[in-house]
Amino acid sequence: MISIPRPWPKIREECGVFGIYGHPEAAKLAYFGLYALQHRGQESAGIISSDGKNVREFKAMGLVSEVFNEARLKELKGHLAIGHVRYSTTGSSILQNAQPFCIRHSGCALALAHNGNIVNAGAIRHELEARGSIFQTTMDSEVMVHLLARAGIKGLENAITSMMGAVRGAYSVVIGTEDSIIGLRDPFGFRPLCIGRLGKAYVLSSETCALDLIQAEYIRDVAPGEVVIIDANGLRSFKGIESHKRAHCIFEFIYFARPDSYIFGQNVYSFRKTLGAALAKEVDVKADFVMPFPDSGNYAAVGYAQAAKIPLELAVIRNHYVDRTFIQPSQSMRDFGVRVKLNPVKEMIYGRRVIIMEDSIVRGTTSLTRIRAIREAGAKEITMLVSCPPIRFPCYYGIDFSTSGELIAENHSVEEIRRFLELDRLHYLSIDAMLKSAGGDPNRFCLACFNGHYPVPVDDYKGKFQLEQ
Ligand code: AMP
Repeated sequence: MISIPRPWPKIREECGVFGIYGHPEAAKLAYFGLYALQHRGQESAGIISSDGKNVREFKAMGLVSEVFNEARLKELKGHLAIGHVRYSTTGSSILQNAQPFCIRHSGCALALAHNGNIVNAGAIRHELEARGSIFQTTMDSEVMVHLLARAGIKGLENAITSMMGAVRGAYSVVIGTEDSIIGLRDPFGFRPLCIGRLGKAYVLSSETCALDLIQAEYIRDVAPGEVVIIDANGLRSFKGIESHKRAHCIFEFIYFARPDSYIFGQNVYSFRKTLGAALAKEVDVKADFVMPFPDSGNYAAVGYAQAAKIPLELAVIRNHYVDRTFIQPSQSMRDFGVRVKLNPVKEMIYGRRVIIMEDSIVRGTTSLTRIRAIREAGAKEITMLVSCPPIRFPCYYGIDFSTSGELIAENHSVEEIRRFLELDRLHYLSIDAMLKSAGGDPNRFCLACFNGHYPVPVDDYKGKFQLEQ
C-alpha cells in the first residue's frame, strides 16, 4: 500500500530573470520580458530601473500583469532595468523575499535577481551573521548580495569573482547597478541564461521566448562560469570562475522551460518530441490513440504518435481561464481543483484503449486524480507513458522538489506506482534512452533527480546550516 506523500515543501525556487541595457523604455521591455517568463514563477514580480543616477524599484506579490500597470512602469525611468519572477510560495513574509534585491552600499546601488539555489547559503550566512551582517530575508540569494558588498561593490569585477569563488550551487544571475547590467552563470551552467540584442540595446534573459516577444535577436548563451558586463562601452566578458564540467538541468527540458525557447543550445519543443519518439522505441503498446494531459505532455505525445504511427487525440480539454482568484465551492466537491482545469471528452474515451503521455510524475497525486477521471469517462484500458525516468532524488539546485520523502519513486518500484495510479500499464523512459535522444555529449546534464549523482556536494544544504523555510 502506498501512502500519499506530504504536501509540497514551503519554499519553491524556480525563477525567471531578465535585464535590458540601452533602451529608453527599459522598464516596459523588462515588463514584457517577465511576462514571457511568467511560467518560471508566479508568486511575485519585480523590476528595478536606473537612468544612470537614480535607481527606482517596484516589486509586489502576484502575476506580472497584476503587479505592474502603465503608471507604475512610467515611474521606473531609465535606460536600464532588471527584473525577476518568483515561483509560488505558501510561507509567510513573502514580499520580503521578492526580488530583485536592491541595496545601497558605500554610495553605490546594486540590485540582484537570481534563478537557482545556492547549496552552501546557510553556512555562508551563519559565518556572515557571526561577523555582524544583518539579513533581511530568508532567501539564499541574499548571501550573494552580502558577499558582493563585503568585497566592495565599487570594484565590482573583483567582488563578483570573489563571490563566485565562495558560493556553490546553481545560479543564473542578473545584476543591475546605476550604469550597467551584468549577467553571470555558475560554472556548471545548471540554469539557462542568454544574451540578446534589440537595436543598440542588450538583453539578458532566462529563456529566449522573452527575446522573441520583444523582437530581440538571440546572440548567445552566457557561458558557464562567465561574467558579462554591459554598459556605455558595450558588452565585455571575463571568466568569473573556472568551469570544468557542464551540468545543465535536464528537467528544464522535460518540464520547466517553455517549448518555444532555446536553452543550452537546443529547442525545448523538439527535445520533448524526441523524448516521445524514444518511448516509441522502448515500448510497444497496443492502443487506439495517445493523448496528453494538456499542456505538460503535449510535445512528447506528438513525438510518440509520429514515431509509433498511432493517432494523437486531444481528449482532455483545458480551461485556460482558471486563476488564483477563482472561487472554491463551499461544499466539498471531490477533486474539484483538478476537474475545473481539465475535463475529459467522454465521446472520445468511452470504450477505448488509451495511452496517456505525461512529461513527469513527481508525487503521483495529481496523476492519480487525472487517471481516475479518464477511467470514469469509460476508458477500457489505460497505459501511462512518462517521457522521463522515475524522479527518485530531491533537487537542491532549484527545482521545487527539494525534500526527501515527497517523491513517489523514491521508495517505490514502477509496479507499485502503477498500482497506486490504478493503471493497466506504466512505462517510464530509461535514462539511457533519454540521454541518447538528447544527442551530443551525454555528460553535459545534471541527472541528480534520476540517479542521485549530485555534481555539487549538497551536504551543507541538507545539514545544520539549512536556511529556515
Ligand atoms: P503528480 O502526479 O502529483 O506527480 O503531478 C504530475 C504533474 O505535475 C505532471 O503533469 C507534471 O508536468 C507536473 N510537474 C512536474 N514537475 C513539477 C514541478 N516541479 N512542480 C509542479 N508540477 C510539476
